[in-house]
This record gives sequence, C-alpha cells and structure tokens, in this order.
Amino acid sequence: MKHIQKIILAKPRGFCAGVERAIEIVERVMQKHGTPIYVKHEIVHNHFVVEDFRRRGVVFIEDPAQAPEEAVLVYSAHGVSKSVRAAATARRQQIYDATCPLVTKVHGEIIRLRAAGLEVIMIGHRGHPEVEGTLGQCNDGVHLVENANDVNLLNIRDADKLAFVTQTTLSVDDTAHLVALLRQRFPNIRAPRKDNICYATQNRQDAVKKMAPHCQVVFVVGSSSSSNSNRLCEVALLAGTIAQLIDSADDIQSSWLDYITTVGVTAGASAPEQLVQEVITRLLLQADDKCIVEEMNGEEEQVVFVVPKSLSREATL
Ligand code: SF4
Repeated sequence: MKHIQKIILAKPRGFCAGVERAIEIVERVMQKHGTPIYVKHEIVHNHFVVEDFRRRGVVFIEDPAQAPEEAVLVYSAHGVSKSVRAAATARRQQIYDATCPLVTKVHGEIIRLRAAGLEVIMIGHRGHPEVEGTLGQCNDGVHLVENANDVNLLNIRDADKLAFVTQTTLSVDDTAHLVALLRQRFPNIRAPRKDNICYATQNRQDAVKKMAPHCQVVFVVGSSSSSNSNRLCEVALLAGTIAQLIDSADDIQSSWLDYITTVGVTAGASAPEQLVQEVITRLLLQADDKCIVEEMNGEEEQVVFVVPKSLSREATL
C-alpha cells in the first residue's frame, strides 16, 4: 500500500566534524603507509564505514597487543586511555590520533581537575569506549554515574572538592536531570566551563525534537553501537512518535509503513548521507505519487576539525 505523502528530513543530520576528521585521517594514513594499518576500536560507530575500511585493508583491534610491533596504529574518534597509549608506545607503534578534539578537551579537563585535587564524577554510559578512554586519563578519584541510583550510591571524600564532566554524546535532557540530582546532593559541585555534550549531539537532538511531532514514525539511520543515534531514537519517542533505529534501507519492513502518511528521517553523527538517500529511495517505493520530500529548517553547522600536520596533503603525496 502506498500511503506516504510526506517525508521530512531533519537538519542537521549525519556526519559531524569529529567523524569527518577521523575518516579523513584513516584515508590519509592508508595513502601514506599502504595497508594493512591498524585501528584501535571501530574508527566511528557505523557498520558501513567500518566494513568499507575493512575491505580495503584496515584491521580493527581492541588492544595494541593485537597489532605487530612498529605497526601503524590509529586511535578511533572515541579516544583512548593512558594505558592504551603506554601499551602502543611499548610496542614502538607509529600512532595517528583520530580522537575527536571535543573528546580530547574533556580528557584535558579531567586531568586538570584531578591535578587540582578535586574528585570528578563522569556522567556517561558504562563500557562505551569514549567513557573508558576518559576515565582512563586518571588512576583514581573518578566516579562514573549512569543513572539516579548511581548518584545516590556515590561515596565522596570531600563534597566541596568535587566536579563533574559528561560524555559528549548523551541525551541533553537526561543529563540535565542527573546534573540536577548531583547539585541536590552536592550543592558545591563544579560544572564544566562549557557543556561537554558536543554541538553535533545537541543540534541533532534539537532537530529531532522539532521534527518528531510532525511525523508518525521517525527513522534514525545509525548503528546500534552509536550512542548519539540511540539518543535520537529516545528523543523522538519522548516526543510521542514511534522511532526505529536502522542501519540501512534494507532494515525497513513494508508493514512498518502501513497507514503511515508522514515519515521523518534523521541520521546519527557517524552515518553517511548516502545511507539516508537510500532510505528515501526505499520509502518512496511505498509513497503516494504526490509524496513531498522536504528538509526542515535547522542549524547550519560550520565546524571543521583539521587533520594532524603529519597527514597534510603535502605530507601524504
Ligand atoms: Fe566529536 Fe561530537 Fe562528533 Fe563525537 S559526536 S565525534 S564528540 S563532534
């Protein structure tokens, strides 16, 4: 049945500056050194990006010990702990760091706070590589909280010497709730000078908040491992709209579109625009002949992160 009359595209959606930079770094490292090269963790959390690199000779590993000594090793956009850096150095591996500069900024904050004698609470998701990397900047004095129960269970030495930081890709609303609980328990807790939730996460969530009330279903193009893509689904659900996380157009089941007239589409910060375009083509198969495809007004993002000098165009020719 062909019921869809309108497909709305969120703006902004898809690749952020940190993901663009990380992908460019791997491309240029391949150009400079040939393959195989090694990447610590998925360079960005998207199956298509990762599989494409794998096909072209990139080996994804979780531990520098899985790559030969003196191998070329790239750190993913999520960043790495001090112990990973030490392990790679011990193996004399040649390192290229694709950590997003906004994640590196949080690493710097947590190191400075600990050096100033403060205990630090990190709001984030246990096991996420960005969180592992950030927690791993310090040997002690850092506590992870994921939910209200974790806040209640915190055991802090001196509540007047306490600060918090956050993972960059959290839900803006959930984080505000946890920060309020932390402030209730520890009124003198220090906040980061500037919010750690990154511009891309904030903008993509704002766009879905605006779009979702106009849609019966929202498709979020992104992989299940992508934190910011999962958060986009939650934002749509909170707005009262059905949300589906899909890796690609192939995931869409015809029955999901029965009696649906208006569909919203967005993409997580690590999902290529090509996948969004394929989703639109797929949706049009179940669309009315007069179906409109319309992009919402939204933030024009101008952020660009440059690649390291050692990978400049001249250096890779
Ligand atoms: Fe950087 Fe934000 Fe993109 Fe993560 S989502 S890579 S923190 S810009």
